[in-house]
Amino acid sequence: MNIVQEEVERLGKNKALEKCIKESNDLLSYLKQKQEQLNQDTDDLKVQDVQIKINYWANQSLKHEKSLNTVIKKYQKSIDKVFNFDLSEVYRHRIPLESTRCRQLVDRALIMHLLRIGDFEAANTIAKMDNIQVPDQLLNKFHELEEISEDLTVHHRLEKAIAWANVNKHNLQRIGSDLQFNLHKLKFIDIYKKNPSSPYPAYEYAKINFPHFGNTHLDVISKLMSSTIFTPNEPENPYLDSIDLTSSPYQKLFTQLSRDFCSFVGLSSESPIFNTLQASYIAIPNFVKFNKISKMKNEKLDWTSENELPFEVELPKSLQFHSIFICPVSKEETTPQNSPMALGCRHLISKDSLAKLKKRNSSIKCPYCPKTFAANEIQEVQFI
Ligand SMILES: [Zn+2]
Repeated sequence: MNIVQEEVERLGKNKALEKCIKESNDLLSYLKQKQEQLNQDTDDLKVQDVQIKINYWANQSLKHEKSLNTVIKKYQKSIDKVFNFDLSEVYRHRIPLESTRCRQLVDRALIMHLLRIGDFEAANTIAKMDNIQVPDQLLNKFHELEEISEDLTVHHRLEKAIAWANVNKHNLQRIGSDLQFNLHKLKFIDIYKKNPSSPYPAYEYAKINFPHFGNTHLDVISKLMSSTIFTPNEPENPYLDSIDLTSSPYQKLFTQLSRDFCSFVGLSSESPIFNTLQASYIAIPNFVKFNKISKMKNEKLDWTSENELPFEVELPKSLQFHSIFICPVSKEETTPQNSPMALGCRHLISKDSLAKLKKRNSSIKCPYCPKTFAANEIQEVQFI
């Protein structure tokens, strides 16, 4: 994989295309200028000069093209070298897609991924092919997410996201999300910077929107309010500078919003298809190596257990999932029949333990924190 990375970097560093575009634009401007002078008869145009310019441009373009082609060829070769294997031979435990059930499960995961990224047309095509009915309610929610995404990440407009967070504020509080405050914080900074001569519009915004967050975000609110001592056009503002703002706050906020949104519609925060592909990308070289060794030894090395790999695959923390859950109340491992259940505060206990808690009281009190919940606030959880 390192070879491919090196070639990708080399391709990125090659500036032949940029140079070629710049020189072509320069030549175009020169020719337009000459044409104008010719129309106005203000220049004693020498055809020879123009010819020299064009020839020089043609030679340079050819050089740039060659340089770019060389890098692209090397890049292709390195990819061929690394990926020159037959996947069905390297990984033999394929998903039986001829089974309708398996095909539908894979396609369902694909549809959910496409809805997450806003590709409704492709999602619809797959759903039609497989006769999978995506509920209208869910579709409408994803359309709303798509609109918020465009407003936030493309136009840097916060209104729709703030409106969504206001409607869902109780749910956001329930899962301990600070999205609503983060949106108002960015809106405050946005108003502050857009009014260079007066901090008052931002101050007015803060007066209306920050009081609800006094209990949880007082330190940041203090800094934001203190920043209004300075007018926004002053070069330095120690209060605002001390607030940690990432280089892409709008994208970061959308990631947070999308994660909370998915949790409300019962989806994992990251797309399972995306996670699977990421893990596969990391694991494939191990499978290729295993296959090579197996061939060299001239014997078919097989896995001892179907659910266990014969080698270690080092995955980053974000891709490590625990398939086993021990109920902290009963100390028993959960099973498909006695599945883990998430309380409204996101603490987990087993279904049996929950049933025992239900028997004692009409509302359910979390055994780990002071919160209580109604039965409809509890969701089943699946560990993968
Ligand atoms: Zn709890």
